[in-house]
Amino acid sequence: MAEPLRILSVGAHPADIFDQSGGTMAHHVERGDYVGCVVLTHGARVHDAVVSEEMFHKDEVPTGDAIEKIMEERSDLKAEEVRKACAIIGVDDITFFGADDAVLLVTPEVVKRLAMVFREKRPDLILTHFPREADGITNAHAVAGQIVMHAIRVAANVDPEDSNPPVRVARVFYFGAGAARLRSNLWDADGGYYNDVFIDISDVIKKKLATLDCLVSQGYGGAYARKRLETNDGAFGVSGGVPYAEGFISDGSETFYHLPVSDYTLERSRSSDHEVMNRYSYRLKVD
Ligand SMILES: [Zn+2]
Repeated sequence: MAEPLRILSVGAHPADIFDQSGGTMAHHVERGDYVGCVVLTHGARVHDAVVSEEMFHKDEVPTGDAIEKIMEERSDLKAEEVRKACAIIGVDDITFFGADDAVLLVTPEVVKRLAMVFREKRPDLILTHFPREADGITNAHAVAGQIVMHAIRVAANVDPEDSNPPVRVARVFYFGAGAARLRSNLWDADGGYYNDVFIDISDVIKKKLATLDCLVSQGYGGAYARKRLETNDGAFGVSGGVPYAEGFISDGSETFYHLPVSDYTLERSRSSDHEVMNRYSYRLKVD
């Protein structure tokens, strides 16, 4: 590597960056790359123990200032959990973008603001949600991915209100689809995309577990964290021929001088069926 890479992971909700790219971020921090993250919305409406859980079965819920205040408290708590989880993998540059998660839309204002973040952080690589996740219309992850796509384009130009020069992002790796969420509806019939990059995170899987254990407010810690790692990262791992992996959908073609093939791919091709199965059948040993 000639120089360290600059990598930005952009998630719709507080948990997403860890859930989808925690192990990959940990690897790049260890290598000496710059790794930052952007949390687009406060996420207080999603999976929250108070806002979405306790209020679900009530006859009446608070409105106006009362609910606003509760949501603000929950947002602060979630931000604190994110800081704690980031510390575990050595990430200290966190941008809480503060977009409203009630109806997350691609608007010129949000795109412009995110483009300013990109001009400031100057990422070579961006990790973010796949813009066609689920229905690709109302899904907040999909919309977040679309906002990022627009912002990448806008960031490549000057903005009269921004003194930072334009920046061009080299590559985008979209969070992999299909491991935790099997294809199961009309929208899934569309596409033709597939997870084409797997990052072997087996060596940092316990670190990733520790980040999810921080996200208590939305019920990600404890049992769910363990289930999630086995069903999601474990499934990506089986696809990638390793115990645990994070899957990504890369944004396009790349140019090489020699034909590209990874050490993993070569090793796999030189292993028997059972040798490959033994390799990915390792399971995290935790209580
Ligand atoms: Zn999310």
